[in-house]
Amino acid sequence: MTAHPNTPPDASSADIPTAGAPFDQLPLAPAMLANLRQLGYLNMTPIQAASLPIALAGHDLIAQAKTGSGKTAAFGLALLTHLNVRYFAVQALVLCPTRELADQVAQELRRLARGEDNIKILSLVGGSTLRPQMASLEHGAHVVVGTPGRIMDHLQRGSLNLDALNTLVLDEADRMLDMGFYDDIGFIARECPGTRQTLLFSATYPEGIAELSRRLLRQPQEVKLLEQHEHDKIRQRFYEVSHDDRLQAVARLLKHYRPVSTLAFCNTRQQCRDLVQVLREQGFHALALHGELEQRERDQVLIQFANRSCSVLVATDVAARGLDIAQLEAVINVDVTPDPEVYVHRIGRTGRADQEGWALSLASPSQMRRVANIVKELGTEPEWHPLSELEATSDEPMLPPMATLQILGGRKEKTRPGDVLGALTGEAGFASAQIGKITVTESTTYVAVERGIAHDVQRRLAAGKLKGKSVKVRILDVNAESEPRERAARRNR
Ligand code: ADP
Ligand code: MG
Repeated sequence: MTAHPNTPPDASSADIPTAGAPFDQLPLAPAMLANLRQLGYLNMTPIQAASLPIALAGHDLIAQAKTGSGKTAAFGLALLTHLNVRYFAVQALVLCPTRELADQVAQELRRLARGEDNIKILSLVGGSTLRPQMASLEHGAHVVVGTPGRIMDHLQRGSLNLDALNTLVLDEADRMLDMGFYDDIGFIARECPGTRQTLLFSATYPEGIAELSRRLLRQPQEVKLLEQHEHDKIRQRFYEVSHDDRLQAVARLLKHYRPVSTLAFCNTRQQCRDLVQVLREQGFHALALHGELEQRERDQVLIQFANRSCSVLVATDVAARGLDIAQLEAVINVDVTPDPEVYVHRIGRTGRADQEGWALSLASPSQMRRVANIVKELGTEPEWHPLSELEATSDEPMLPPMATLQILGGRKEKTRPGDVLGALTGEAGFASAQIGKITVTESTTYVAVERGIAHDVQRRLAAGKLKGKSVKVRILDVNAESEPRERAARRNR
C-alpha cells in the first residue's frame, strides 16, 4: 500500500520548531518580536525551541538544560506574553536560589519586556531592607523575581498577594532544593491559585525534583536536553599529578596555556583558599568564589571576573552554578569530580558560541576510576598529556587586560552606565574602546578600563565631576583582598 498523497504532515512534529528556528514561528506579539531582533536574538536556542511552544500554550513544564542555554527567555517570553499590563497585580512569580541569580533573571526579563511599555518587574531578595520593597509592592508590580526566604517574609507580612498569579516559575530548582528551600517553595505555591501555570527549570534531575513536581505541577510536559557539547570546540586534556603537586600544577597550566579568563573548580572551600594563595604568590590575579563570602564581596568578585580584571576565578561547583559568564578560555578541574554529570557541566562553561576553549583536568593516581567513569559517560578517549611538557610560553607576567575602578554611588543615586561612559569619553578624552563593562549596583558603580590607563582614569575622574558632583573613585586590586579567615578574625576582634 502506498501513502495517500494528501496525508497531512505529522501535526505534532510540524508544530514544534527545531533548534535554530526563528522566533517569529512562535505566537508572539509583533512588538516582542521586534524587541528580540533588537536584542540580537534571531534564532531560538534548543531549550527555547523545545519549551516555548509548550509554555506559551499554557501547559505545566519541567525543563532540564545546562547553564547558559537560554532558560530565562524560555520562561520569560511565556510569562510576559500571558500578562495583562493594564491590570496592576502580581501575575508572575519567579523563584531563584540566590540574590544574584534573581538579579540576573530580573535584568534579563527587563530586557525582554522592553518591547511593551510599563511592565513592572520587581526583584525581592534578601540583603536589602524590607521597607522599600514593601513600598514598591504598593505601587504595583506585574512580575516579581525573588528568593524563597524573602518571598515568604512578604507573604507572611501580607505585603505580597498572589491571588492574581498566572505563572509560577521555579528557576534552578535543583539548587533551591540543595539549599533547603523545599518547604518554603511548598508554602509559596499554596498561596498561588490552583489554576496557575507552573514552569520548573533545572540543570540536573535529582529525585527531589520529581517529588516537587508531583506536588506542585499538573500534568507537566517534560523537556530534557541532554548535553551535547560541540566536542571539537572544547579541547579536553588530562594530566596525572601526585596529590602534593596539584596546586603548583595549576600554575604551570596557566603559564603554559596563558588563558585570559579561567574558571578553576575545586571540590572544597579549603582547596579554593589554598589555590588562590598559591596563585597569588606567583603573581596571578586570582579570586575565590565560595559560600563564605558576604554578598557584597561575591558581587565584586563576579564583576571583576566578568569584566576581565581577574584572570582566574577559583570556585566550588555550588558557588559557580547558574552564573552567566561569557568568554572563558579555559576551565581547570583542580580535582576530578566523582560525578560525570558535574564534569560535563563544568567543561561546558568554556567553548561557547564561536570560541574554542580548553578543559584541563588534574587527576591523581587514586582518581583514575573517576576519570574512567567520565570517559565512559562522554564516549570519548581521554587525551593524556605529561606535566613535564608544560613549559612557560612567555616571560611576561600574566596580567588581566582590564582593571576595575570602583565609584561611590549607584542606582540609588540614579547613576547610569551612559553617565560614566559620557564622563570618560567626553571631557576626560578617553576612547570608548578603552572602556570595558560598566556595572551599576545599588550603591556602587564599577568600570572596567584598560589596565594601562587605570591610574590615569582614576585621576581624571577624581578631578572632574559626574552628573555635577565630585567623584570618589578607587582602583580595585584583585590581589589586595584578604583571605576570608583573616577577615573573620578581624571582625571578631
Ligand atoms: P540559563 O538560564 O540557561 O543559564 P540564560 O537565560 O542566562 O541561560 O542565557 C544565557 C545567555 O544567552 C544570556 O546572556 C542571554 O542573553 C543569551 N541568550 C538567550 N537566548 C538567546 C537567543 N535566542 N539568542 C541569542 N542569545 C540568547
Ligand atoms: Mg538561568
